[in-house]
Amino acid sequence: MSSLPSSEFIIVGGGAVGVGCAYALAKAGRTDVLVLERADEVGSVTTSQGAGLCGQVRDSAERIRLAMHSVATFRELQASEVKPDWNEVGSVRVALSPRRAEEFQRLKAAADAAGLKAELIDRAEAKRRWPLMDFSTATSVLWCPSDGYMTPRCVAASYRHNAARLGVKFATATSLEGIQLRNGRVAGVRTNRGDADCRYVVNSAGANAYHVARLAGLELPIFPVRHEYYVTVPMAGLTPDLPCFRIPELTLYGRVRDAGLLLGGWEPKSLSQDPRSYSPDNEPPPVVTDWPVLDSFETSFRALFPTAEPAKKSWVGKGWPTFTPDGRFLIGESSRVPGFVMAGGCNAHGISGSGGIGKLLVESLLDPDPGEYVRSLSPDRFTERSIDWSEARRQAAHVYETYYGV
Ligand SMILES: Cc1cc2nc3c(=O)[nH]c(=O)nc-3n(C[C@H](O)[C@H](O)[C@H](O)COP(=O)(O)OP(=O)(O)OC[C@H]3O[C@@H](n4cnc5c(N)ncnc54)[C@H](O)[C@@H]3O)c2cc1C
Repeated sequence: MSSLPSSEFIIVGGGAVGVGCAYALAKAGRTDVLVLERADEVGSVTTSQGAGLCGQVRDSAERIRLAMHSVATFRELQASEVKPDWNEVGSVRVALSPRRAEEFQRLKAAADAAGLKAELIDRAEAKRRWPLMDFSTATSVLWCPSDGYMTPRCVAASYRHNAARLGVKFATATSLEGIQLRNGRVAGVRTNRGDADCRYVVNSAGANAYHVARLAGLELPIFPVRHEYYVTVPMAGLTPDLPCFRIPELTLYGRVRDAGLLLGGWEPKSLSQDPRSYSPDNEPPPVVTDWPVLDSFETSFRALFPTAEPAKKSWVGKGWPTFTPDGRFLIGESSRVPGFVMAGGCNAHGISGSGGIGKLLVESLLDPDPGEYVRSLSPDRFTERSIDWSEARRQAAHVYETYYGV
């Protein structure tokens, strides 16, 4: 693309969220969309590092429906020419205490209310589904048959392909440098490749979302928090059809990848960044693999996977997913700067959430009465009051550290 076309929507950031929103807008008939991505390819920053799990069991019917919409989107994309590599293998969630077992009852009730099939299964059934795991200490196991995993880069490529087919344009190697306002509302963008007019700027710039919001004069507390997992070399008995798993008490999750074990977790003492501390032109500093943390995941997991010897690792996934102080997405238009729209603050489920985020973005913009849940995700909740940055960062880190909190 030699010069940038004026467009109704300019989406900044071609990660899973930005390209997912482009696809959702185009499906809703709004095809005058341009996606700006500063890297050479979509999905190459945080998205490329994702573990690719998609879990739909959440603590409220709205959040479950959002995730269910993502699964519906992945199924739809999987039937297209460029696939997200969606594997609907199901998932087991394993409780190790009576308190957690009670939480599973509540999660099951929330799933029922949202129309998501999820069942509490006994240990024998769990063992049949994951033969290498030892469920003898499990107090409850929640099985969700329509959960699964995908390959995050393929998700972004699939969204791109299918959005482009509907008319969305993509400009890679293109950085947003400024947002032009006219009479207080968004009127266009300035980039390293020239200017373009638009009616809406959608901010899906991941760990640079704070900086992009600043260009519109808004301060949004969006904090990158380090996250890591490892993948082992192939291990006997690990087949790609085994379900994903989550063990909240050990703060671990995982799945099979390339016949090895992918194991990730949430450490109790997180490492976060203040977005004001790095330049808008860069991502946060590269993550240095923290082997003591990854080794601690391996040690904890042995409680359920006793036959596994410490295995050689073939890959470490690592990056800076973003967190908000209240642990909720940021979706929708700012009432302070009309035309400036947020799609971010994903709290480490932006790939699995991408289909649902796109749907809610469309509802927030095009539906005359988008409903209370959509309105509650508005960026106004942070811009209409002053922010205590150190407290906001502490809260965002707490959301990470208690990811599986009851
Ligand atoms: C180790 C790890 C494991 C994870 N596991 C999972 C998982 O299993 N499931 C899940 O759902 N999520 C997972 N996540 C979280 C997930 O990766 C993120 O929530 C998701 O990728 C966020 O997508 P995004 O599009 O918001 O951000 P990104 O993928 O970072 O995309 C933002 C894009 O904006 C671009 N950009 C920034 N500034 C500009 C600018 N000025 N101009 C133009 N472009 C710009 C960047 O280049 C980037 O490509 C994991 C994350 C990590 C690090």
